[in-house]
Amino acid sequence: MQYDEVMIRYGELSTKGKNKKVFINQLAQNVKLALHDFEELKVHGSRDRMHLELNGANSDAVLGRLNAIFGIQTYSPVRRLERDIELLKKVAVEMIAELYTEGKTFKITTRRSDHDYELDTNDMNQLIGAEISSKIEGIKVKMKNPDIDLRLEIRNEGFFISSETILGAGGLPVGSSGKGMLMLSGGIDSPVAGYLTMKRGVSVEAVHFNSPPYTSPRALQKAKDLAAKLAAFSGSVHFIEVPFTEIQEEIKKTIPEDYLMVVTRRMMMRLTDLIRKERKGLAIINGESLGQVASQTLHSMIAINDVTATPIIRPVVSMDKNEIIEIAQKIDTFELSIQPFEDCCTIFAPPSPKTKPKLEKSREFEDRLDIDGLIERAMKGLVITKIKVGDTSEAQQKAGFSGLL
Ligand code: ATP
Ligand code: MG
Repeated sequence: MQYDEVMIRYGELSTKGKNKKVFINQLAQNVKLALHDFEELKVHGSRDRMHLELNGANSDAVLGRLNAIFGIQTYSPVRRLERDIELLKKVAVEMIAELYTEGKTFKITTRRSDHDYELDTNDMNQLIGAEISSKIEGIKVKMKNPDIDLRLEIRNEGFFISSETILGAGGLPVGSSGKGMLMLSGGIDSPVAGYLTMKRGVSVEAVHFNSPPYTSPRALQKAKDLAAKLAAFSGSVHFIEVPFTEIQEEIKKTIPEDYLMVVTRRMMMRLTDLIRKERKGLAIINGESLGQVASQTLHSMIAINDVTATPIIRPVVSMDKNEIIEIAQKIDTFELSIQPFEDCCTIFAPPSPKTKPKLEKSREFEDRLDIDGLIERAMKGLVITKIKVGDTSEAQQKAGFSGLL
């Protein structure tokens, strides 16, 4: 069925008091961005709902896109009719007939924005309910949890009618909670961490450490492909590639093997924090999960976290691997993540990193490096690309994806 409007309900946003306007504006902006190629659309945000006027745009396509936008609790495709009761009766029967199978129950819920209309909500419920009962054989009314809830709204501009309530992505509009830098590897965990943080309204920029020629161009492309998947939730994601080869070679040469991992992580953390500062981010996000590998014990976290006081968000820290995988499958990053292109950490990983590194020792060993020089050179080599929703490897290459903005 082709619809005329989509009604969007905010859910959690409704409780945000004073900030509500900011949230609604952010959501309206995100909705427009996600649907930027439907030029005919109009978005109106009001205190408790948002209306999307379709103006002929394909409603199935629009409904599909709304699915990934955080800050939307539920949404309903709506038909707009002239204020003609006979027409309303006819369309109401059609809409229910489309959903009805034997044994299903229904109710009518009317809302009046135009309080001067001659029938009140009860009259309308009775009138339309009676019509449906008489035209659709066997259907029963049920007030509590019916299978079909047909919603009518009487507004000055017409009758609005919808029969479906679709569950939205929940969460808060991306951007309404500030910006953070996601440390994005090619693995399973960090894309999930990025998704979960975006869900709470944080817009993310992806920071990826790259060590050519030890890592292949395919590994870099894999990380970009993952960023493109995350862009589905925000329209676009900035991808920041950090040249990490020199640092890894220096560390490998200078640091005792059992402290390689900790020192590498400290350097990554320092660089991510500097990038965050330059780009006005408020937090760092990573995919660490407690106990998963040696660099993810509490002892390691103390030694790594030592280089910054910036809040570090670790959304998957207490999840089991299978719980993380379940989310990765839901957001369609899993298949990409398990492609066998190793990132920089795997290649330089020592056979037996310390699970309980000591903070003092980490600092001591690290002092053997020219930290400032290494950091300065890496910062000079950043490559920043804007990756848009739906950018696949092929699309990126076709567009001559050199990427410098
Ligand atoms: P993931 O599945 O996210 O790669 P992992 O279980 O492989 O995680 P590690 O390799 O120990 O764990 O990395 C821990 C976290 O450090 C990652 O989740 C990611 O946030 C960050 N990280 C690791 N490698 C890189 C990289 N090459 N570029 C950016 N961030 C990285
Ligand atoms: Mg990894």
